[in-house]
Amino acid sequence: MTAFENPALAAFAAQLGAELVFAQVLIRRDGTSFALRHIEDAGALAESLRTIAIEELRALTQTTEAGAFRPLKSAPNLRRGWFARATNITELGTALDRLYPGALADWFAARAAQPPVTSYREFTARQTGMYRITTFPDDPRAAQITRACCDARFCLKRRLWTVPSLPTDTAADKSLIPCLEPCALLLEFARKVVRWEQEGELPSTVSPEEARQLREKLNQTGSSVRAADFESPENPRRLALLQQLATRD
Ligand code: SF4
Repeated sequence: MTAFENPALAAFAAQLGAELVFAQVLIRRDGTSFALRHIEDAGALAESLRTIAIEELRALTQTTEAGAFRPLKSAPNLRRGWFARATNITELGTALDRLYPGALADWFAARAAQPPVTSYREFTARQTGMYRITTFPDDPRAAQITRACCDARFCLKRRLWTVPSLPTDTAADKSLIPCLEPCALLLEFARKVVRWEQEGELPSTVSPEEARQLREKLNQTGSSVRAADFESPENPRRLALLQQLATRD
């Protein structure tokens, strides 16, 4: 099969132009090849960056700069300081799949007249076992969970699946990579929130002073807490959820 028999890759190549930003990756067309680097290294000299092979890109995405595991490859904490060259469009497809697994296929699917998106309700209704309780949150709570979990500070995929009263994301809010259905992290977060509610661990409101402290913590916590460690009081998504419970002065 040639590259252009892959319709997603063909459509992507047609849209690429001289350069394109795909989440945190800058792709520059260079003759028939493509140069890739972190967007924050856009102005760096190629010689100052570590050249890595396409095959090494998957390993690059596994951990943050601080060495923490990245459960969500669309988190805005892709390592910097590297440079990779794809010698043709097929290699570019491979590179992007290593950096953002499945993203190109989802990008293509989202361009369809009727994109295959779901909703919080449809998705959680299909869950079994311990995830069945993710149907419990009412619409306002489901919106809070989603806002906290999918915030651009934590994930660059633009959410196209729906939750009542919450607009979907735009590419400008996040990136070109669509999110067509809730991910495992969101599902686990929703389950935890239900558990906290059941166990009386989720306050109904937080005071303005507590909200200020939460904001400070959220600014400080950085990458020190694992994304999926929702038991940690410092977990950024947990803090972002609590922030939404703030009362007004
Ligand atoms: S569900 Fe939310 S956090 Fe998960 S990949 Fe989609 S946008 Fe990101």
